[in-house]
Amino acid sequence: MDEYDVLVIGGGVAGLQASIDLTNAGFKVYLVEKMHALGGHTAQLYKIAPQLIDSSKVIEDLSSKAFRNVKLALYSNVGSVEKSGDYFIVEVEEEPKYVSWSKCNGCLKCIEKCPIKTSYNSMKIVNIPAIYTIPGNSLSGKPVIDGKRCLYFKGESCRICREICPVNAIDFSQKPLTSTFKCRFIIIATGFNMYNPSKIGEYSYDKHPNIITGLELELISNPLGPTKGSIVKPSSSKPPKSVAIVSCVGSRSEKHLKHCCRIGCTTSLKHAYYILDKLPEAEVYILYNDMRVPGRSYEEFYRFARDKGVTLIRGIPSEIRGASDEEVSMKIYDEASSKLYRLNVDLVILEVGMETNINEVKAINIPVGEDKYPESIKPILNTIETPIPNIFVIGCAQAPLNIVESITQAQAATSKIIAKYRGCID
Ligand code: SF4
Ligand code: SF4
Repeated sequence: MDEYDVLVIGGGVAGLQASIDLTNAGFKVYLVEKMHALGGHTAQLYKIAPQLIDSSKVIEDLSSKAFRNVKLALYSNVGSVEKSGDYFIVEVEEEPKYVSWSKCNGCLKCIEKCPIKTSYNSMKIVNIPAIYTIPGNSLSGKPVIDGKRCLYFKGESCRICREICPVNAIDFSQKPLTSTFKCRFIIIATGFNMYNPSKIGEYSYDKHPNIITGLELELISNPLGPTKGSIVKPSSSKPPKSVAIVSCVGSRSEKHLKHCCRIGCTTSLKHAYYILDKLPEAEVYILYNDMRVPGRSYEEFYRFARDKGVTLIRGIPSEIRGASDEEVSMKIYDEASSKLYRLNVDLVILEVGMETNINEVKAINIPVGEDKYPESIKPILNTIETPIPNIFVIGCAQAPLNIVESITQAQAATSKIIAKYRGCID
């Protein structure tokens, strides 16, 4: 049986950083990622705040190092984990891609011709074919076929991708593959899920095309995204003249998520920056409860975004609804000026809260608290180590964190594993 030192589950920024640091220290790492490209949510962002660095540059830098030294299993999930002495016996299942990546040259002719177009992750502005790359992710160069949506697997006659492929890479006969190996340590870095905005009925996310989420704005602002970087209204594909950005959607709420997402205020400022940078004539409003931007360079970023001309209103609308096919309306009481605003805007951006994605790892039963986040062995002194010996949780699976904090946790987990391996600590 093959042996690795560490299994890392999740190929976003935290999982990538941990994999790189561990391999640099001489450890053998097996990295499992459920999607068919590395990078996680970060890879789909346009820029990272407050530095406003292109996220694709950060992800490409990290992944170029990870590819070199790590055993990488893309489009894969951990099927089972059993304890055996000092080791974990791990089974990893790789989904069939139905595309032979050793033949595929990434020309993407198949994607252009596939007749299926369905919404990506329920997003309004992003439709993807059944053979697809990950929208906005610069590392997603070769496609896979989604067997649940492809007409061939529904018994229909479509073979367009196979007929068009110049290198005969389409392979409908692929089957799932299982690999078994043993390892000493496990790092879970499965990140977060965005809270479902449809659960907040009073914000009409499902009822009006021009009410979108912050993640959707990231994708349409991204030059690699579906509109090639143009910010447009889903209703007409024209640029909006007025935009309201609503913070704390689903967060800090008894009914939805009790916790603060920690990144929403900075993200709302970043989104105001995107809009004013690309559409300088647009009216932009940020509607917020409190403006929480602690940390190095964040206050400066707040001033920078504010001074670009955004109107800040200290209040959250109780209801958002369509005023016409193109317009959305809301009322907000501004606690700062004691003024009642009646806003009619072309586009609404909902900054939706985040939930841990720890449940994705069904093979390991990590104890979780009331808030559904994983428990740690010491709440203050050691937040990344779980009560199960030699299993760590880092990044947004562990707590709501920003990108820098996620990377710092990855580095902390690496240090702990090196010290444990050398017998310096238990
Ligand atoms: S047409 Fe063939 S070679 Fe081109 S991206 Fe599709 S599968 Fe790959
Ligand atoms: S067989 Fe047809 S539906 Fe399926 S991926 Fe190929 S082109 Fe799309």
